[in-house]
Amino acid sequence: MRAHHFLKALLCLVFIMTSTAAHALEVKQIRFGAHPGKVRMVLDISDVTDYRAFVLSSPYRMVIDLPTFHWAAGRVQKPKLAMISDIRQGKLVPGISRIVFDLEQPITIQSAFLLPKQGNKENRIVIDYKITTPQKFNATKSIIHGTLKVEDYKNKTAAAENTAVPRPPANTARPLYPSREKPLIIIDPGHGGQDPGALGHSRIYEKNVVLALAKQLRKRLLASGKYRVLLTRERDVFVRLKNRVKFARKHGGDLFISLHADSIHKPSVHGTSVYTLSKKASDAQTAKLAEKENQADLIGGVGLSVEDEQVAFILGDFLMNDTMNQSKFFANKLVSKLKAHKIYTLQNPHRYAGFAVLKAPDIPSILIEAGFMSNKKEATLLNQNAHRQKMAAAIHAGIDSYFNYVYQNEQH
Ligand SMILES: [Zn+2]
Repeated sequence: MRAHHFLKALLCLVFIMTSTAAHALEVKQIRFGAHPGKVRMVLDISDVTDYRAFVLSSPYRMVIDLPTFHWAAGRVQKPKLAMISDIRQGKLVPGISRIVFDLEQPITIQSAFLLPKQGNKENRIVIDYKITTPQKFNATKSIIHGTLKVEDYKNKTAAAENTAVPRPPANTARPLYPSREKPLIIIDPGHGGQDPGALGHSRIYEKNVVLALAKQLRKRLLASGKYRVLLTRERDVFVRLKNRVKFARKHGGDLFISLHADSIHKPSVHGTSVYTLSKKASDAQTAKLAEKENQADLIGGVGLSVEDEQVAFILGDFLMNDTMNQSKFFANKLVSKLKAHKIYTLQNPHRYAGFAVLKAPDIPSILIEAGFMSNKKEATLLNQNAHRQKMAAAIHAGIDSYFNYVYQNEQH
């Protein structure tokens, strides 16, 4: 009898698997048209389905969620009138996929509706939108068009999920299920142990300066009562770059901040700068800097392996791109706070390159070069408590400003 039941269950499972595969939703085409006073976006889809559409700010985005789909729309044409700079799509949570439209300006969705197949016309989702002011955007951004309920899918797929591919940490779905727990800030003091980092005059070492700054920043953040904080190292020890990222992911960090102090052959150069991850470096100097920082493991006596090159890119480009956007957004907030706190910055203080330590695919990550150890005056300043307090206050303000936005946007 048992065998019989087992066989029945197995057949049932096979049936479910093949039937869902046969009915996978397909996004066939996306096109835009100008209409009086509005832009009309039309998605040709293979089936009548639930969907939901809404907007997000910082940066301005329009989002369409659908049951897991097969993308057959190829590269979508983006006419200027659409006010869309980029389109990305991918899996959001099991059972649900998301299309994100990066907007050049704030918009408001006027209406969204589904038109079932008619003659030679496909099933269509139609979204009418128009340009709006940031004020009106904020006033209407909590409106969700459509009836898709993400929670339903979550329950439906929960069982299947247990046997599926390794799951990313729970915080991947954070934009949909905001946790009420205090955000966890991971502070990563660069270098340590046998790797001293950049050397200043009078035995001022980067590894010591950044550890001191990390501890001062932690003290401030904890005192605010708004955050949880963990340091990737508490002492003068060597930690591999890969393990710094692993540490952040293991603990489910909400933000990753790597602290460094740069060095350059021109002793006059000074100022703070902020870096985010990018495949292409913003400039030659930043490319070199990333190369140098990425060699920390070699200096610490550990060879680089293939594994290091692709620090856990298990979540795919979609999530990575979204995380990179969040990181950039945070970096910009931080730069404005550094300036507001009268911290001298490099020109174009927000730069990009392929820093290995910023490669957590699901945690917004930035690297701060607090200043130049090669500049005598700045190295002296970085070695002083008072200056580091000022720096910690500015970073704290940047973190506050970032989370104010994140929480505003987690209403959906
Ligand atoms: Zn460094």
